[in-house]
Amino acid sequence: MAVKSLLTALMTLLVYFFTISLGNGSVYSWIYGLFLIGIFAAIMYTGKVHTYRRVFQFVFALLFTVAFIGNLYDERGSMAMTANTFTESEVPFCHLVIPLVFIPYVLTQTVVFPARILGHYASIISLLVIWFVATITIGRGWCSWACFYGGIEDGFSGMRKKPLVKTVAKNREIRAFHFAVLVFLILMTLAFMSSIYCQWFCPFKLITEFPQLVDIPTLIGTFVFMSLFFLMVVILPLLTKKRTQCSMLCPFGAMQSLLDKMSMYRVVIDTERCTGCMKCAEVCPFFAIDRETILENKGHPEITCAKCGACVDVCPQQAIRFDFSLTKHFREKNPGKAFLDGPGRLTKILREFIEPKYFFVFSAFTFGVVISSGLAVNGLQRIAEALISAFNLGGM
Ligand code: SF4
Ligand code: SF4
Repeated sequence: MAVKSLLTALMTLLVYFFTISLGNGSVYSWIYGLFLIGIFAAIMYTGKVHTYRRVFQFVFALLFTVAFIGNLYDERGSMAMTANTFTESEVPFCHLVIPLVFIPYVLTQTVVFPARILGHYASIISLLVIWFVATITIGRGWCSWACFYGGIEDGFSGMRKKPLVKTVAKNREIRAFHFAVLVFLILMTLAFMSSIYCQWFCPFKLITEFPQLVDIPTLIGTFVFMSLFFLMVVILPLLTKKRTQCSMLCPFGAMQSLLDKMSMYRVVIDTERCTGCMKCAEVCPFFAIDRETILENKGHPEITCAKCGACVDVCPQQAIRFDFSLTKHFREKNPGKAFLDGPGRLTKILREFIEPKYFFVFSAFTFGVVISSGLAVNGLQRIAEALISAFNLGGM
């Protein structure tokens, strides 16, 4: 109880600074701040990580979308990029293209990004710093806790109680497909020295910005990204209860899976407790557990685990949990001996205090707070102002 209260108090301070204080104490910053504190406290005190994380990520994604589109209309009067805005306008650097921009930059010192980047190097460097710190802290957990796009399909994947299409038997192939897509996109980007993913495959152009329809290739491109949005972000998540775009198409997700070994936290499976019921595999939105994972007693999900907490919440044996990477290495090297094992009173207090699940949630949610606050408060304000103006509440 002490650790939950302490972390909730610390999170309240963080939210006060990043959301309310940086939001100039506006009523919208207070509303979003209280929402964040409520979500964090709900995870801490109910232990239901995935349930409340999903609410947070879905709300954040919707508010981000409203804010992004609203800003485009304020600045350009349209979501479409004309020939002029394509060369003159600046857009925020998007984390999805990090793996595609990085390799051409290292090889040729050319930044491959299909527009001028808002804030240029300052913008790139600040995003890269946040991404690097997040990578060594929560690894692919970024996709479940900090990605402003992932929440949309997370929301759709949670709308049905049971999936209409089951995928567990194909999870291995789906994971392989995702890495093949990453390699393909990197090679195509290098071959054309242009961000092929942004121009042709990014489904999120439907909710951000897209080229004005002026010729046949743009018309085809528009058809492709609209189809991808409805297929990968809406229809397949509804049918399968999986995050299909995150797990099959997103270059950033594939890269984070490869880098996840650097992170401080892991999800581990206690093979002694596990009864092989496969409930974890059925609920995993990232295709990260399959029959082999359980039958071969691997003791951890596969490489694509995004630390969403769905399996932790659902396992009837409490056999899956978040753990520190350091503890895992210690256990592997000292079989049968628990980390911080020992009779001393101080050791006992420390053992009770250092609960990886709560520290992981605290670390991951901190990234969510830092990344979401500005745009979410902006989105909330836009929705409130639109409602006030629609119902003429201001004149009452
Ligand atoms: S839900 Fe728990 S008990 Fe069932 S297979 Fe997964 S880890 Fe084992
Ligand atoms: S293995 Fe568990 S924590 Fe990892 S992505 Fe799947 S459900 Fe989420």
